[in-house]
Amino acid sequence: KLYNQVMDLKGNIRVYCRVRPFFPGQSRELSTIGLIEEGKITIVTSKNGKEGFKTFNFNKVFSPSATQQEVFSDMRPLIRSVLDGYNICIFAYGQTGSGKTHTMSGPKEITETSMGVNYRALNDLFYIVENRRENFSYEISVQMIEIYNEQVRDLLSKSALNQRLEIRSNPQNGLAVPDANVITVQSTSDVIELMKLGQTNRAVGATAMNDRSSRSHSCLTIHVKGRELASGTILHGCMHLIDLAGSERVEKSEARGDRLKEAQHINKSLSALGDVISSLAQRNSHVPYRNSKLTQLLQGSLGGQAKTLMFVHVSPEVDALGETLSTLNFAERVS
Ligand code: ADP
Ligand code: MG
Repeated sequence: KLYNQVMDLKGNIRVYCRVRPFFPGQSRELSTIGLIEEGKITIVTSKNGKEGFKTFNFNKVFSPSATQQEVFSDMRPLIRSVLDGYNICIFAYGQTGSGKTHTMSGPKEITETSMGVNYRALNDLFYIVENRRENFSYEISVQMIEIYNEQVRDLLSKSALNQRLEIRSNPQNGLAVPDANVITVQSTSDVIELMKLGQTNRAVGATAMNDRSSRSHSCLTIHVKGRELASGTILHGCMHLIDLAGSERVEKSEARGDRLKEAQHINKSLSALGDVISSLAQRNSHVPYRNSKLTQLLQGSLGGQAKTLMFVHVSPEVDALGETLSTLNFAERVS
């Protein structure tokens, strides 16, 4: 409750940044990361012998040594507020390879210590529901969809390949994609099973040469319905955990055909997302939700009482400098 008041004072949009560690064997000397302090990151922009620095401010900056547990602890109060009926969006933004999937899901082989936000979030919600909320009964269900080339696909369907699902901008039942499977879950292991199915479905859509996961947005939605036992009052909350498509810009000269089309769709939807969040941050009266499938999907969970966490990821390598600056500029625009 206290946390909710804090959020209201600060506004409902928070921006976090996380820096990926170097890979084993990589030279640490060529790093763009100058200094990380509480909520501040300084990037070394030196070029051709000319020194340069640029500092960005966020609600929180996680250094490469931050553990999955530390990252999650910081997000925990936000995640728990779904049980009080809040709508929440958590986005992982950044270029391919910067650690988005690591934060949201974890590495390929997931262990207790390496698991990402979505498993931890569900564990935590189940724990609270079972141990701390005797006055309520809760039902938790999940949907998992993908947006690829501005088409919505159900990742929890057994025969999903050619589906193109519709988004309802004013959903009656709280489901923005009513035709995607909604599956009731009782435990984190139920969710792990479903997420495996989702991963398989995602892989089926990809060709051997083309790792589709970096070019589509994947969205795990957790719906929570709570009933206060004494009064019968019903609460609805939902949380979207979104692993966005890679934000890297592709050179027009490099990309042709399908690859160019993908790049244009990603570009369009990420800038539409940036436009929506920055107009909410500036409290504009017009919020341009209609410009992409992603923002249409999330219309009911962005703005108003809803809470948003934009979690941007950067790679430390000098080669990534251009993308790192562009990611941090995006993040600053929405904060
Ligand atoms: P993205 O989803 O943004 O393309 P990944 O999450 O797949 O990036 O990360 C790229 C690689 O870096 C993966 O092998 C991942 O396990 C590793 N990685 C990313 N972030 C971290 C981190 N904080 N600690 C350790 N390894 C990481
Ligand atoms: Mg990824």
